[in-house]
Amino acid sequence: MEQNALFKLGYGLYVLTTKDGEKQNGCIINTVMQVTNTPNRICIAVNKGNHTHNMLLQSKCFNVSVLSQKATFDVFKHFGFQSGREVDKFKDYPHKKLAANDVYYITEGTNAYITGYVKETLDLGTHTLFIADVVNAVSLNDDVSATYDYYHKNIKPAPETQKKKGWVCKVCGYVYEGEELPPDYVCPLCKHGAEDFEKLT
Ligand code: FE
Repeated sequence: MEQNALFKLGYGLYVLTTKDGEKQNGCIINTVMQVTNTPNRICIAVNKGNHTHNMLLQSKCFNVSVLSQKATFDVFKHFGFQSGREVDKFKDYPHKKLAANDVYYITEGTNAYITGYVKETLDLGTHTLFIADVVNAVSLNDDVSATYDYYHKNIKPAPETQKKKGWVCKVCGYVYEGEELPPDYVCPLCKHGAEDFEKLT
């Protein structure tokens, strides 16, 4: 099997946002799919390593903001493909608005947002698949949606300017920054494990 071929499936890029009692959090995911139209249902896959994942399991309500080709690298840096517990990503973030469910969606570098309510979850090991009712879907503009391929080629700074230390995913090019790669690490983009990473030299 050629693993790179799987990554040519049309992954989009989305900011997933949710809340707990007091805080809101978000991270970038790449798997969102409409599964039925009557009722309107989508499914999203979220890496369990994301703090946003745990928040969503509790709150069951979320927004998915669809990133467009106008999204800047700052949006990617700010939300990241992995979200930790300690950060409040909305404290000083200006490009946000509350949706009807009191969860933020992103107003810059996006072309639509979807408000969902989780109906069912499926434990897939490294990820949870959330199946959700769409309670609102709003188109913000006609900008073209960003794919990971577009991000990689046009938004992300060229690798030679980065001079990073760490491990690179051989399938999608995601860079994990750190001396040691945890053996149970899962690429937040292409979902491949530590065995598909190699050390940057
Ligand atoms: Fe990867």
